[in-house]
Amino acid sequence: MISFEPTQKQLTMQAHFQRLALERLQPLSLHIDAAAPGSIDPDYLGIIAEENLNAFLIPEKYGGKPLDRISLALLFEELGAGCAGFAAVYAQTFHSIGALLIGGSEKQKKQFFPLLLPPAGHVAGFCVTEEKSGSNTSSFATVFSRKGKSFLLRGEKNTVINAGQARFYVVWANEKGTCNRAGISTFLIPEKTGGLSFGPYHDKPGFRAAPTATVHLEDACIPEGNMIGPAGSGYLLLMQILDWGRAISGAIAVGLARTAIEEAIRFAKQRVIWKQPIIKNQSIAFCLADLVTQLESTRALVWKACRLIDLGRDHTVASSMAKLSASELAVRATTEGLLILGQSGYRRLSLMDKIHRDALAFRIAEGTSQIQKLIISGQL
Ligand SMILES: Cc1cc2nc3c(=O)[nH]c(=O)nc-3n(C[C@H](O)[C@H](O)[C@H](O)COP(=O)(O)OP(=O)(O)OC[C@H]3O[C@@H](n4cnc5c(N)ncnc54)[C@H](O)[C@@H]3O)c2cc1C
Repeated sequence: MISFEPTQKQLTMQAHFQRLALERLQPLSLHIDAAAPGSIDPDYLGIIAEENLNAFLIPEKYGGKPLDRISLALLFEELGAGCAGFAAVYAQTFHSIGALLIGGSEKQKKQFFPLLLPPAGHVAGFCVTEEKSGSNTSSFATVFSRKGKSFLLRGEKNTVINAGQARFYVVWANEKGTCNRAGISTFLIPEKTGGLSFGPYHDKPGFRAAPTATVHLEDACIPEGNMIGPAGSGYLLLMQILDWGRAISGAIAVGLARTAIEEAIRFAKQRVIWKQPIIKNQSIAFCLADLVTQLESTRALVWKACRLIDLGRDHTVASSMAKLSASELAVRATTEGLLILGQSGYRRLSLMDKIHRDALAFRIAEGTSQIQKLIISGQL
């Protein structure tokens, strides 16, 4: 069965988060964007708690109220429409929970899931990238070694969203002396672990609402029970999480692109030049027609990938297509948006300026657009 009709329950949820995005996230995001780099805005953490967002990712038996992937795509699109940085903060928790859902033991789930549930708003950190290896995740310079019934981790992860504020970090590392996929394992590092520290917040052009920093591990000592899955299963686990995550990253970028297109349409209808609204010019009307068409087709790609995930079918390529198409659309929509808005958009801290800077990050984070093409072309 192919269906593009959200259920009444999904529509109600979507309407709720659409209001939240417009009334709270978007105005807050402009204020955060203008501020110096710092920790996650307390109002954002408040929203995570009030809306019980993490529960949507956690199975019922651990206190959650899980949503299917299509519902998550609807949710993330609305959050992305409000503030891509906020959506990215939440998405990192989604990835970290994904590691536990796929590879975690019962004991680990019981221990770590409750850390993310209210009363306070909590986040988790997802630590893969290193200075020397972003696109290549086949080996890491971060290493682990065994010490009795513990593991010691040493290395640096850079760039990490939620660094310094996460309840726990999911970290990929190679066993000392190995430098291939078979040597990679995954670890749960609680926030107060000795040897775990953080660098200063990065000053980024976009995604400023999603604070990033370097995570330092200097012989961080964790119990042996904090390894996720068997030793050597880390690479496969990472690929599975990224396959899920790219569809969701696509949903966020679709939301951002939608905001840019809606803003451009609104402006083009009310801006009068030579006695007519500028949307009456074919070059502007056709540009907007192209963008809304790409928006619809990209959203369909996101939903397709999410549906395949829900069905337990192969979704690697669909997820990469969704992420690639949405990232490129976000950049195109905001670039054209800046042109249509003219000088009024090309101002520091205008909404279009802010979301354009955010859009550029989608082509890099969670696998660059070239890497998505590598995955897609590898299946041709
Ligand atoms: C805002 C932001 C937030 C992030 N948050 C996190 C986080 O929370 N956790 C985390 O682990 N990481 C995070 N990252 C890191 C992100 O996942 C990496 O930046 C990304 O995977 C690319 O790695 P790199 O930047 O090291 O680029 P590199 O891997 O150094 O690549 C440089 C360039 O070479 C290209 N390239 C590389 N190999 C090939 C190839 N085979 N063929 C063609 N082109 C190629 C790339 O596409 C890119 O254009 C974040 C990044 C950003 C921008």
